[in-house]
Amino acid sequence: MQERDFFENENKKETVTIKCAGCGANMVFDPETQMLKCPHCATVTDFEKSSKVLELDILSAFENAEVWKDDSSVYRCENCGAVVVLKVGETATGCPYCGTAHVVKSTELAGLKPNAVIPFTVTKETALENSKTWAKKKLFAPTKFKNNLHAEDFRGVYQPSFTFDSQTETIYQARLGTRHTRVVGSGKNRRTETYIVWRTVSGVYSDFFDDVLINADTAYSQSVLNKISPFDNGAIKTYDSEYLTGFMAKRSDRKIEDCWQDAKVCMDQAIKQRVLSRYHYHVVDYFRATTNHSNVTYKYVLLPLYLLNYRYNKKNYSVHVNGNTAKVVGKTPVSALRVLGVVGAVIGMIAIIGLISYFFA
Ligand SMILES: [Zn+2]
Ligand SMILES: [Zn+2]
Repeated sequence: MQERDFFENENKKETVTIKCAGCGANMVFDPETQMLKCPHCATVTDFEKSSKVLELDILSAFENAEVWKDDSSVYRCENCGAVVVLKVGETATGCPYCGTAHVVKSTELAGLKPNAVIPFTVTKETALENSKTWAKKKLFAPTKFKNNLHAEDFRGVYQPSFTFDSQTETIYQARLGTRHTRVVGSGKNRRTETYIVWRTVSGVYSDFFDDVLINADTAYSQSVLNKISPFDNGAIKTYDSEYLTGFMAKRSDRKIEDCWQDAKVCMDQAIKQRVLSRYHYHVVDYFRATTNHSNVTYKYVLLPLYLLNYRYNKKNYSVHVNGNTAKVVGKTPVSALRVLGVVGAVIGMIAIIGLISYFFA
């Protein structure tokens, strides 16, 4: 009975939208103060935060995972199909992935509830400033693109991800070669040739992996996530729906089992590198390894990103800004005119240098 009451209270707490004491507007999470702030009158109010993020046991992940309930509402983009989760009571105004406004409320389920969040610490204004600096350095980007970056087009979205910890023990065997040279032949045929000395090595290698980051959204690429990383893991907090206010979260559509398989591949690559770094070699014939994982834990973490979508010559481009470190990753359109201009300038320079050396050499 008591347990039931506890859960009911929990749900009640989650579904309350915090209103501004000054003017009654909905408060939203403010990256600068890390508090809830009123977008109209700037009143701030704090909420309880916890840095004690639980590492969850992977063995029980599939049965005990908590789901997002009535504390959230689900919206679907009619243009690109992206499904985002908002704090209940908030309305999606546009899609962070394609930039259109065709986002409608959906009856779909929100899926697994995150247990951790890296809150936004970067403001939209800083994201914009950094993007402008980044775009300025892009030699071939059209001026129209550089001048059309606006704060209101950036949308803050939490990207779903899993981090895995694992204690590994690897039994390995490898055949490694070192290159040597020797002088062969005599007289006119005397020459230096290269030969390889092979040896087989084997052993046991133990390691501990902390927070291997795997993307939990099929529509988002792991390589973009790797480029925009790292995120400051020291900033990680226990998930609370207050962090979501004023932002939205992409719904995860990847199974944790599949993400764990990806994490194992990442660890295998790291283990191979670390083992091989113990030896002196020039070539690898083969590397065979079997790794045993123990004490595997995971966190389901929301990562803060600002996304800006840009259409240029009927093609889509996007700029991604890390909402925790302000790092910018993206592709800019290429202006044919600017490429011609730069190529022309280079050819001109070469011609001038050629002429100068012709006349003065
Ligand atoms: Zn207010
Ligand atoms: Zn969309």
